[in-house]
Amino acid sequence: MIQEDARPFAGSDHLVTVRDSRLEPLTIIIYGATGDLTWRKLIPALYELYSLDSLPKPCRIVGTGRSELGDEQWRDRLRRGMEDGGNHDLSRWEAFSAALSYVQVHPDAPKQFDNLAATVRRLNGDGGNGANLLHYLALPPSMYEPVADAIVRCGLATEDRDGVGWSRLVVEKPFGRDLASAQRLNQKLLAGFAEHQIFRIDHYLAKETVQNVLAFRLANTIFEPLWNRNHIDHVRIVAAETLGVEERAGYYEEAGVLRDMLQNHMMQLLAVTAIEPPARWESERVRDERAKLFRSLQPLPTDVDVFDFITLGQYAEGVIDGRPVPAYRDEPGVAPDSLTPTYARIKVFIDNWRWQGVPFYLTSGKRLDRKVSEAVIQFKEVPNSMFRGLAGDSMTANSLTLGFQPDEVIKVDFLTKAPGPRLRLRPASLSFDYSAENAESRIDAYAKVLLDCMTGDHMLFWRQDGMEESWRFLDPILSRCETCDERRDNLHFYPAGSAGPQRASEMMPPRRT
Ligand code: NDP
Repeated sequence: MIQEDARPFAGSDHLVTVRDSRLEPLTIIIYGATGDLTWRKLIPALYELYSLDSLPKPCRIVGTGRSELGDEQWRDRLRRGMEDGGNHDLSRWEAFSAALSYVQVHPDAPKQFDNLAATVRRLNGDGGNGANLLHYLALPPSMYEPVADAIVRCGLATEDRDGVGWSRLVVEKPFGRDLASAQRLNQKLLAGFAEHQIFRIDHYLAKETVQNVLAFRLANTIFEPLWNRNHIDHVRIVAAETLGVEERAGYYEEAGVLRDMLQNHMMQLLAVTAIEPPARWESERVRDERAKLFRSLQPLPTDVDVFDFITLGQYAEGVIDGRPVPAYRDEPGVAPDSLTPTYARIKVFIDNWRWQGVPFYLTSGKRLDRKVSEAVIQFKEVPNSMFRGLAGDSMTANSLTLGFQPDEVIKVDFLTKAPGPRLRLRPASLSFDYSAENAESRIDAYAKVLLDCMTGDHMLFWRQDGMEESWRFLDPILSRCETCDERRDNLHFYPAGSAGPQRASEMMPPRRT
């Protein structure tokens, strides 16, 4: 086990710390405040920040929705959600919840938006001038455009010219369902908000272990020289879950794994693993590099040959944790002949000097045998080994595992001599357990993204060009996979609780540790 030195980074102001002086008085307006995201993620994250004394003072939180609710009813719901939802110390809830109020707003009723604007101005005292506003769209994606539009029309998107008051818009995923809809959504949002006002969320990027990849790669000299086609054979990036579609069949039937995971989270994991080092640690420079990487993705074939690069699967019935679970097609809300993929493995190449010819295998699936999210860098074998005669097949190449969850590890696998009089090789590893250290200074991914929105740091958010480049890569694949005659034959069923379709394992070199 490697011990981590407890001293913090010098000059690490990008590692947004709680108690940040950039936290200015603020009103947060949540649209869709009666929904799942609000009680499960947003309010617990805001409460966590409050408990860490890391919300601005004052910070008002206004929930909106079509439902007719009073402040107390909304607070009670949220408190029940917190009680059901985990291990929260609610001793400061009363004080926190005093900042929560609810306003009924129907997206089709402009008058109600005017009421909302009046309420926000009243809450901000001086007629609302100079107030900072954070608008969070916790709504079904079809409502992003009309609600953003209504925010603009009622005057809540305006920023003061002297820079005293700002207005920011947070947009959840999914951002579009193909390139055209993502571009249209961008156009609509940019008609009322400037790019610097828009925060397109991908909370995966805010996970400590994902952020740590760049620190690990670029704050050390020993890895970067190896981080290229000369030394790396291939890279495997996996986000696997044991859960099925749960309550989200309606959404998932439309999205499938390619939209739900590949276009966003997997692309971001690819980016942290593969981007070029930016010249400086600044949001726009890092986002430039991400966009450049997505632009460098080699397009996949648009004919039937695309299936040489992609395996799609759907879970059949099986057993998870000793419990029988139904097939995807038997889940409530799923069509009995659904062709929606719940599993994808895709082989991508990056057309630049660093990565030419190195395959990246991106894999994501539901109802798999384990919950794991990791990137494995598989190094090449030694060019000529004097040990090969002795070690035979047990001669394995080095690999480096960057574990995001549940194991938050960095692990290097290598070979050593086994103790004893004869020369034999055996695998060994060095590992660093990120989770064992600094538990008290970590915050939840949603708390981190909210904090960054409050301080105006775009580093962990999608920019328009990166978002569109990512869709541009995926769009032809989606069209082919969703419309071609061969789609039935190319959907591979796998038992729930297995490692995925057999064909997917044939696509990728086996893992040898
Ligand atoms: P919900 O489906 O629970 O909807 C949120 C709220 O939006 C509802 O409570 C409802 O409030 C309002 N709403 C629903 N339909 C309409 C409509 N047609 N017109 C106007 N308002 C409507 O969504 P979630 O809370 O689960 O998710 C919100 C967003 O966050 C989505 O874009 C989702 O993709 C994204 N997201 C969610 C995650 C989660 O864990 N839930 C995780 C990652 C992303 P009311 O009836 O009171 O108006």
